[in-house]
Amino acid sequence: MPLTAKGSRSWIARYALSLLIGLLPILSGIAILYWQAGHTLSQNAGKTAGEALKQFDLMLDSAAESANVILPLAGQPCDEVKLTLREQVTRQPFVRAANLAWNNNLYCTSLFGPYQEKIDPADYVDGTLWLMDGNAITPKSALLVYRLQDGKGAAMVSIDGYHLANALRLIGHEAGLYLQVGEVWLSSQGQVREGAAPGFAVGQASLSSSHFPFSVSAGFPAGEVWRYVVKEYPALMALLLVFGILAGTTARRLHKRSSAPTQELQRALEAGEFIPYFQPVVRSETRQWAGAEVLMRWQHPSEGLVRPDLFIPLAEHSGLIVPMTRSLLQQTAALLAPHAATFDPGFHVGVNISARHCQDLELLDDCRDFLAVFAPGQVRLVLELTERELIEPSAVAQQLFSQLRDMGVMIAIDDFGTGHSSLSYLRQFNVDYLKIDQSFVAMIGADALSVHILESIIELSAKLELGIVAEGVETLAQRDYLTAHGVGFLQGYLFGKPLPAADFFNNFKRQLSLEEISIAVSE
Ligand code: C2E
Ligand code: CA
Ligand code: CA
Repeated sequence: MPLTAKGSRSWIARYALSLLIGLLPILSGIAILYWQAGHTLSQNAGKTAGEALKQFDLMLDSAAESANVILPLAGQPCDEVKLTLREQVTRQPFVRAANLAWNNNLYCTSLFGPYQEKIDPADYVDGTLWLMDGNAITPKSALLVYRLQDGKGAAMVSIDGYHLANALRLIGHEAGLYLQVGEVWLSSQGQVREGAAPGFAVGQASLSSSHFPFSVSAGFPAGEVWRYVVKEYPALMALLLVFGILAGTTARRLHKRSSAPTQELQRALEAGEFIPYFQPVVRSETRQWAGAEVLMRWQHPSEGLVRPDLFIPLAEHSGLIVPMTRSLLQQTAALLAPHAATFDPGFHVGVNISARHCQDLELLDDCRDFLAVFAPGQVRLVLELTERELIEPSAVAQQLFSQLRDMGVMIAIDDFGTGHSSLSYLRQFNVDYLKIDQSFVAMIGADALSVHILESIIELSAKLELGIVAEGVETLAQRDYLTAHGVGFLQGYLFGKPLPAADFFNNFKRQLSLEEISIAVSE
């Protein structure tokens, strides 16, 4: 089969589509995984912030409990209450120190007993909570102090920063986590910094406590989503890769299968394998050669000569019929030109045109170039349009046919009788000839009804004042019948089969000399 050989398109053009189809499942799969990872990380951050909030609430609850126990003792002499303060430090988990103040004066601590230090309630957020980066006893060690006031008395219970940082580290072992109290925040390394805690690029979640004035925020650094995808979904990534390769190779195979014939036509066109054959058209009365129909053949390097009905439909479908016909016209002009002087003026050259040619005005240039090769009036170009595919009377088609007419190009309706062209269709495109389809010619000598159809076609053409060509004339009976019924031109194996240019011209010359002899004899 000639339509299976490899084409000559570029590597990129051939592989780009398959590559795209292969990449599609990979990229869309990665996009879904990326979205899923982002979603999971956001959920993780939310969960982490929630847990941290619960834990800090718990710690502060135990501090508040101690504060509630010792607050009623505020104002009493320190030596009387200091043991109760120490008891709270021992009893309550997380509590590091319990202190009492009177009139904003810290006068009793669990560690030293009696003590003297001024305090400013404004240091405490909402008068309740103060995140300090150290105090006189442990200067560089973070401390969270809970303050509870009743009148002039106040209880201050502190939680060691070690517990807080530890909680941040343990709960936030995957996500980053900060504790924010007022204008300062605590990192998981236990450092207290001023200002707002830095945000997180991925899945940031911030929660505020409903019991105490603090908040926590959790999240992940930039690039974490990719790291998560690579770490958590290696099997899915590998599966996507396999899917991508499968899709790409399948697409490549299908594309190869579907585009190979078109590529093969393109290659053959570039290699000049489409060549014209010529079949004579004779005048019925005199049997002189009035013209020829140009029929395309494919001279395939390995398959030999290929019939047009095997490749013309594909050429029409792919649009290659336009450059193929252009090449055919150029070759025909070059082959006919040296013999043109031997033709009777107005020698008809019929060329088959498909509906595809009528979508733009390119055909005009092709016809003009063809006619320019010959002396004016030496040949008549006849475009044969099959009745099987009717041309839409678009503005472009109307313009095309009107300009063709101006150039002296004639129009024939091919395979007439097999389609559904109307009278207005014939008028619209200024048709000059009807070519009666061979199936009607073959009816001659058969049943009377079939012949009746043929006669109607001949009558119709005469009424429309159109020239008639009968195709597929193979027998003398057919020739005589058609001549007797006024069909002007005949074409068929009886007068000559389609032949390559050289053979066609040999026969043409022989026919000319036979003509001369018959003229001489008759004289
Ligand atoms: P078509 O235009 O109707 O051409 C006439 C066909 O009938 C030709 O077949 C010709 O060889 C064949 N034929 C001529 N006389 C006889 C006869 O006495 N008996 C029989 N049985 N057949 C005869 P071919 O060359 O195989 O072409 C087939 C079709 O391919 C053509 O039908 C035409 O529709 C298409 N074709 C050929 N060349 C071209 C071309 O350059 N462009 C386009 N668009 N179509 C073409
Ligand atoms: Ca034809
Ligand atoms: Ca035909």
